Amino acid sequence: MIRSTSFLLCALLLTMFQVALGQVNLKNVDLAWDHYDRYREPIIQNRFLKHSDLVSLIKKHATSGLLISKEIGQSVNGRSINHLMLGTGKTKVLLWSQMHGDESTATMALFDLFNFFHADDEHNDLRKLILGSLELHIVPMLNPDGAQQWKRRNDLEIDINRDARMLVTPEGRALMSLAKKIQPVIGFNLHDQSTLYAAGRNDNTATLSFLAPAYDYPKSMNEVRKRATQLILTMNEALQTKVPGKIAKYDDAFDPRCFGDTFQGMGISTILIESGGFYADPEKQYIRKLNFYALLNAFVSIAEKTYVNQNLADYEKIPENSRSLFDVLIKNVSISKEGIQFRTNLGIVRSQIKSPDYGSMSYNGRIEELGDVELTHGYDEIEASSLTLIPGNIKLMRKSEWEALSPLQELELIRAGYLFVKWTDGTSPSGPLKARLLNLTNRETNTIQTASIGQQAQFLLSRDGKPVYAVLNGYVLDLTKDVTDVPNVFGY
Ligand SMILES: [Zn+2]
Repeated sequence: MIRSTSFLLCALLLTMFQVALGQVNLKNVDLAWDHYDRYREPIIQNRFLKHSDLVSLIKKHATSGLLISKEIGQSVNGRSINHLMLGTGKTKVLLWSQMHGDESTATMALFDLFNFFHADDEHNDLRKLILGSLELHIVPMLNPDGAQQWKRRNDLEIDINRDARMLVTPEGRALMSLAKKIQPVIGFNLHDQSTLYAAGRNDNTATLSFLAPAYDYPKSMNEVRKRATQLILTMNEALQTKVPGKIAKYDDAFDPRCFGDTFQGMGISTILIESGGFYADPEKQYIRKLNFYALLNAFVSIAEKTYVNQNLADYEKIPENSRSLFDVLIKNVSISKEGIQFRTNLGIVRSQIKSPDYGSMSYNGRIEELGDVELTHGYDEIEASSLTLIPGNIKLMRKSEWEALSPLQELELIRAGYLFVKWTDGTSPSGPLKARLLNLTNRETNTIQTASIGQQAQFLLSRDGKPVYAVLNGYVLDLTKDVTDVPNVFGY
């Protein structure tokens, strides 16, 4: 009895010591977060990085000796798929990013992590711990053809993450044969999701969403899936200190076509991370930093096996991902339509328009919802109980006069009720228009007279006949303020 008590006491003390040790290292991860700007890869300025950028960065890190790079296959269009290796530890961890070409947030973070591992500063203990305990295998940008044209699917127009079973795509085959060859203990499947997901039915964005995919239809739990779930709980705990309430969990319906579900069944504890949205972060640069932080936390936890202390029941407490956000939600606005004046809510969503070189994005704001909404929110919300939706007017002027307008002069015209300019001496261009506030039109009259589903969100909100907000291409301008930056308006 005494023997078993003292044994239990020793075990307890050991656990407490391990937990305490873990906490010290997780604090170190927090310091690395504070120093993130040192490691942020400066070549990657936005989310539209291409395979050629990636190849030169890999070359830099291979030349420095940080990692070993091997080509494990080629995309449909002959772009290399690269397997990067670093670390000398015993636990094999496989990470792959951007199997959907237009989902690059984690790819950016992986290159920040390489810079972190390459640096020589007060975080050397952290580096030593991770690289001494883990053998990291990384495939960044699994779908380089998709990235080139900023599209989800590969050049066979097949979704690589629905190809785990048929393996028709060379990209999917490369990933599957690598996983079979190295047989990692843990896998990270790194994606992006729509920015319109909320974490639960509230106004918290689902900034990062997680899933420990099921490996069968009944969604059974085994040791493999349990480890993935515990690692999610570890990352969630850390992330709550940075973005409280903004972490969600993904639907766990089994889909044998997906790599995560298949790998889980192959004995690889697989974690899906989906980068979603965050207020005023359309380029996802803050979410990139959160990826860096989440992965560092996971690496430390794997190195120290602290994740085993996580209680599986806590997974239920993570709110579900729900598509319940608009870019703009205008509540209780008075609208006149079909001869009837009524108050309702109006939801706006901005879709993305790729530039011809697939290197940047313009936005097209449209009305997606009219009517009652419940547990639905907006990145921007306007309580419009005292406001009326009115159409904007068209200002006639010569092209040279339009060119000479300053942003504040444009704002003054909007305050006077104008949303469009029509040139009197020529045809104006159509499509996205950057660095301007007023739209251009070649029409004689404004066709946007009221709010209709699918219609461009270009109108004014007035109080007692005076415009107080402008909605320009789905962006809200508070006309009581001298704010003049709208990413783009439109030419019609
Ligand atoms: Zn994806």
